[in-house]
Amino acid sequence: MLELIDVRKVFRPENGEPVEAVAGVSLTVERGEFVSIVGPSGCGKSTLLEIIAGLTEPTSGEVRLDGVPLASPHPSVGVVFQEDSTFPWRTVLENVEFGLAMRGVPPAERREKARRMIRAVGLAGFEKAYPPELSGGMRQRVAIARTLVLEPALLLMDEPFGALDEQTRLVLGEELLRLWAQTGSTVVFVTHSLDEAVLLSDRVCVMSARPGRVKDVVRVGLPRPRD
Ligand code: ADP
Ligand code: ADP
Repeated sequence: MLELIDVRKVFRPENGEPVEAVAGVSLTVERGEFVSIVGPSGCGKSTLLEIIAGLTEPTSGEVRLDGVPLASPHPSVGVVFQEDSTFPWRTVLENVEFGLAMRGVPPAERREKARRMIRAVGLAGFEKAYPPELSGGMRQRVAIARTLVLEPALLLMDEPFGALDEQTRLVLGEELLRLWAQTGSTVVFVTHSLDEAVLLSDRVCVMSARPGRVKDVVRVGLPRPRD
């Protein structure tokens, strides 16, 4: 279970007014739940996600995963960002294997896991390709595979389909749901698109423009792959 307890973030630029990006967010996400955080640009979604990821220190408040404070980047937390985060000089297979190698998984085992995950995201046959040879949607599949292969208990996604066209967004959204149904990870998905949030999640949390607060929580009643 993920718990955010009165999380606040104030940025204090050296030359400028302080900005309250996140104004006291409390939120509980159950294990295995798929939650979206939706709101207009600038409302603090990315900042909130970065805090959950342990990449940004909150000004006050706390983030806990299964009761344990999450203070810094954590091995059971995986993050996918909007911008292309693949390594252009590594093949698709090497990209997906990378995190497993960092964890000391033996070569044969990590190759097998990476190949399976590459197939799962629909990139079979592209193992030896380099990301710059692929489309934006395919590169994002690589980024998703690279994170999911590590089997994160908590998957954080910040506009992962934001740079893609509508058709690709839909296809990748459905694939993400299928993968999520298989893995059982908890997902927090940030988007400015209410459509995307409603399509994908169990629960939509709405962040208001100013101050950055979770204003409302809407339970989505659509059938889910796991139902
Ligand atoms: P969103 O992801 O919803 O677009 P952000 O979390 O990126 O919102 O930003 C929330 C607010 O905090 C914005 O006003 C933004 O300009 C400000 N902000 C974000 N990061 C910083 C930073 N490093 N320094 C100063 N202000 C920041
Ligand atoms: P998005 O809306 O997609 O979240 P932003 O343009 O708000 O993107 O932010 C992109 C990056 O720039 C974020 O990492 C954020 O921390 C940083 N940032 C945003 N606003 C500011 C700011 N006013 N000063 C410094 N950094 C900022």
